[in-house]
Amino acid sequence: MTDTPSLLAIFDALPYPVFAKNARHEWVYGNAEFVKIIGRDDFIGMTDADLFPPHQVEIFWREDDLVLAGQESLNEEEIGEDVYALTRKVPIELAGGEPGLVGIIIASVSDSDLASDIHSRFESRLRETAHLVDQLKADMRHKTETLKQKLLHRELELSRALEIAHTDAATGLRNRLGFEEDLQEAIRKYEDKGRVFALVFLDVDHFKRINDRFGHETGDKVLKLIGRRVRKLPNVISVARIGGDEFAVITERPSVEVDDRQADLEEAQHYVFRSLIDGSKHVELSGSAGVCVFPEQAETADQLKRRADLALLHAKSAGRNCLKIFDETLGQAADRRRLVEEELPKAIREETIEVVFQPIVCSATRHVRGVEALARWHHEELGVVPPQEFVGIANDMGLTSRLDAAVFRKAARQARELLNAGLIEYVSFNVCPNDIIDPDYACEMLERIDAAGIKPHQVFLEVIESSIVRDIQAASDNLRELGASGVKMALDDYGTGFSNLRALLDLPLHRLKIDRSMVVSLESNDRMLDFLVSIMQLAQGMGVDVVAEGIETARQAMFVEAAGCQFMQGFHFGRGVPVRELDALLQSGTLQSQVA
Ligand code: C2E
Ligand code: CA
Ligand code: CA
Repeated sequence: MTDTPSLLAIFDALPYPVFAKNARHEWVYGNAEFVKIIGRDDFIGMTDADLFPPHQVEIFWREDDLVLAGQESLNEEEIGEDVYALTRKVPIELAGGEPGLVGIIIASVSDSDLASDIHSRFESRLRETAHLVDQLKADMRHKTETLKQKLLHRELELSRALEIAHTDAATGLRNRLGFEEDLQEAIRKYEDKGRVFALVFLDVDHFKRINDRFGHETGDKVLKLIGRRVRKLPNVISVARIGGDEFAVITERPSVEVDDRQADLEEAQHYVFRSLIDGSKHVELSGSAGVCVFPEQAETADQLKRRADLALLHAKSAGRNCLKIFDETLGQAADRRRLVEEELPKAIREETIEVVFQPIVCSATRHVRGVEALARWHHEELGVVPPQEFVGIANDMGLTSRLDAAVFRKAARQARELLNAGLIEYVSFNVCPNDIIDPDYACEMLERIDAAGIKPHQVFLEVIESSIVRDIQAASDNLRELGASGVKMALDDYGTGFSNLRALLDLPLHRLKIDRSMVVSLESNDRMLDFLVSIMQLAQGMGVDVVAEGIETARQAMFVEAAGCQFMQGFHFGRGVPVRELDALLQSGTLQSQVA
């Protein structure tokens, strides 16, 4: 080598393997570390072909040739069974002016080595080099310019190697390793300055569906695009992809003004998850976000991560496309949900879920005609768990069918006497959405009615429109079979969905239940009364009767009656009550006189 006694001495002293090759791929030099890694010291004059299998030699030489032609390279190579090396190759002029190359093995790892190991190795290497460079720089200030250049190079090269170890290949964003480092760094930096930053975990909603529907190529594009959009946001310090469709963002974005944070972050969330047009494909995107703010809500990296994760979990279970900022109650809510999940199956199995009956009255006479059975759960530790809460959880756990069956059994047994005495005409039951499209449902329900000792015509079943439209054929098969046996069907919560009422009324339905939200707006919105009147006309034309739900005031009752609704239900007439109370009410006629 040309200018080299000093250079060779430096190479010999370096704590990582260095070798040099001539243009015929023969080794002309290797330092002590290289001897160690290659496992022999007689390699001078040999080539890769003497040590490695042909397919690998081909790869090495293809790269050597590029370097010999003047290009620098940084490559990961397999240099032995399970051993990989990150090798930097630089063209060099050998003694006598012959072209050659110098290779520096920056890191070698076995396949089974963990990423964190690579990380720590790189870091210690970086420190070693920095130290070495300082030393060398100090006593070689007078040495040649080329040498300085080469050393500078090494610094660069190691920082680049570090960068590779911290980068997600698919998106070019930081990977989990990079994220961990950035988070530590942010904590260090912001601790002293009294400034805030937020850790945001993002999760693409239903990413699997996007992959299934549009293919993996589009899925990959989605991930890259989301990464790009996040990077464009102002005040973002770091963006990492930390899992399949999960991202971690560190941002200065949340202002110190606590009140503005939610809106501010949501705006960013909506920008990131705008839909994407890929050729002719239109991909609707949405994402959930969990946020934890340093230092108010968490002071350590672990706590920040845990709390942002918990907030994300809540955002997802709140129906996705949602952003949640951590607060203390989330932890409690999570504990409560866990307890509900634990206790609910038992409560259903042991039939400790109770039933209350809410009157449904005739508008013209104000007499109670039937009742709706509503589930009630009082748990020792949890207190009263509202149905909105446990029905939702039962649904997530696939338990609604069993819950409804248990409620049916109990309610039918309790109400049987009232039915048979003619005090009420029917009991109305809520049907979980999955059941109405289950091919066995009608048959099982009829068996259940029979087993309970009541008659099909004493049963109303309430289904919500969204469950019917999911599989209109299967739903209408069930409705027809039940209808043929005398069971009556009601469409529940009408006015909360977007379905075509005409099409729904073609189904064998007997009743429409107008949701409370429409009743509430009757008094404030003129058009609502017109709308209700036209629904009434349509329903009448189809032979379907109508119940207005959630009547709380005499005024609402008047509006609803004026529009022509035949039946009403709501706190104005009575809340759900246990069977004994219902019995007393019906016997004494209190309800009728009270509201007449
Ligand atoms: P839903 O079917 O719409 O039931 C009516 C809900 O409105 C009941 O709430 C009832 O107490 C409430 N309500 C009645 N009148 C008024 C009023 O004047 N004002 C107000 N603000 N609310 C009124 P609840 O009992 O909390 O039940 C909530 C939901 O839980 C029900 O809504 C139903 O979807 C579900 N649910 C209840 N029991 C069962 C069940 O046994 N099985 C299934 N699958 N779902 C059930
Ligand atoms: Ca209902
Ligand atoms: Ca309802």
